[in-house]
Amino acid sequence: MTNGNGHGGQGTDRPLRVAVIGAGMAGILSAIKLTDAGITDFTVYEKADRVGGTWRENTYPGLACDVPSHLYSYSFALSPDWSHRFSPGPEIQSYLERVAEESGIVSSIRFGDEVTRCEFTGGRWQIETAGGHRDDVDVVIAATGVLHQPRYPDIEGIDTFEGAIFHSARWDHDVPLDGARVAIIGTGSTAIQMTAALVERVGRLALFQRTAQWIFPQDNPSYSEEEQASFRSDPSALTELHANLSQMFGVFANAVVDADSPEIKMVEQACLDNLENNVRDPELREQLRPDYRAACKRLIMSADFYEAIQHPNAELVTEKIERIEAGGVRTADGRLHEFDVIVLATGFKADAFMRPMSVIGRDGQKLADLWADRPSAYLSISIPGFPNFFMLNGPNGPVGNFSLIEVAEIQFAYILQLIDRLRSREAREICATAEATDAHEAARVEAAKDTIWVTGCRSWYLDDRGIPATWPWPFDRFRAVMEAPDFAAYEAR
Ligand code: NAP
Repeated sequence: MTNGNGHGGQGTDRPLRVAVIGAGMAGILSAIKLTDAGITDFTVYEKADRVGGTWRENTYPGLACDVPSHLYSYSFALSPDWSHRFSPGPEIQSYLERVAEESGIVSSIRFGDEVTRCEFTGGRWQIETAGGHRDDVDVVIAATGVLHQPRYPDIEGIDTFEGAIFHSARWDHDVPLDGARVAIIGTGSTAIQMTAALVERVGRLALFQRTAQWIFPQDNPSYSEEEQASFRSDPSALTELHANLSQMFGVFANAVVDADSPEIKMVEQACLDNLENNVRDPELREQLRPDYRAACKRLIMSADFYEAIQHPNAELVTEKIERIEAGGVRTADGRLHEFDVIVLATGFKADAFMRPMSVIGRDGQKLADLWADRPSAYLSISIPGFPNFFMLNGPNGPVGNFSLIEVAEIQFAYILQLIDRLRSREAREICATAEATDAHEAARVEAAKDTIWVTGCRSWYLDDRGIPATWPWPFDRFRAVMEAPDFAAYEAR
């Protein structure tokens, strides 16, 4: 259906022009896949001065990915060089930089300029950046990431602290940690990784826990030089490993959408055994025991958290935080916990997506109005009234403990089929219908009732109504649905 040179812009002979927003994992993927498809007239807009997205922004000690590295890799750029089953964050950042460099897409990235506005007018998207640059494009691909905007806690006196205080995703590397008295607020994946990495370095570490977490015991062995060499000499072994890991993670992804599945019971048992067998002090064990089901919140994988929180330098504080003062954190029991450094590991605004960017669709419709209550999209890809604007890892999409790279690859292949309609000139404007979007949303909300995420916990998966903003069906269904667009769900002009 397509012509090889990507022609198709609005009935003219000029090539289709595309803007990709964000040069993180999904933006790099988009640039590579557009190029492969013969669409070469594109710019990737990146507000920072390097690629990498979340892996560039998060630099906290202990940062790693809880998806195995051989799965958290592009399927077309598998690497024999991963150091560990779950490799550290800087290694992932280097991998993304290397893939971007080697694929030759870096020259298409406009660094240091943030897209502030996209408006659909005259059949094209007008892009505006903070630096005053303008661009007219046929297609926008929003690859802006999911957990991107830090969520700062609403704690009284937070500005009065006289030591160093920063969000986990805004780590201040000028602040000395060795021997320091450090507080970590929060017990999400970030805080858990950081606790194990910091406990031996600092003078004292206090972890402020509002809600206990289930911890799935997960070893993190390194790959030997021999293993890396064998991957190098036999790339098919890498492909096989990627496929096997994908299959294994599929089992987990399927388990979480059925709260009664035997697999989820096995996960629960493994977490329970981990707590019972590895926390020695009965009082601490009870403090660390969650009162909700494992995997209700995003499941945390760690081999060393329980050991770290039992380290002589560590203290678990479960007393409610009353306020932050010049010298530290005052808890409800009246105690002042004094610190040099407070780290806010309090998560992200999971419903931000490309906001605060201003996006204006057909007939002047503002995304800010459409999404005023909560974001929504057809299959997390397309928004009614916003033609030729497609999202990767968009709203209500499949988040879970699996590889968002794999998700983005599947989504991009789907989006490319929509773009093909534009470049074959079967359509000039394409977006999901409101009916299809509403029907998908209604089915999604109904299916979410059977998932583990609604069994009684607070988490960033839940929207303002308490409904999981996730894909509530098995991962195989995601693959099947994303195989090819159902064009009846799209309005093409
Ligand atoms: P998070 O899971 O949203 O956790 C935020 C933590 O801060 C929670 O423990 C929360 O308590 C606590 N909190 C928030 N406001 C608070 C307040 N006012 N007072 C006290 N505690 C407060 O955030 P995250 O740990 O940054 O992780 C977010 C997600 O990023 C993860 O779920 C994961 O998807 C991703 N991540 C992945 C990796 C990885 O290995 N791939 C690593 C880090 C992060 P409550 O539980 O009581 O709400």
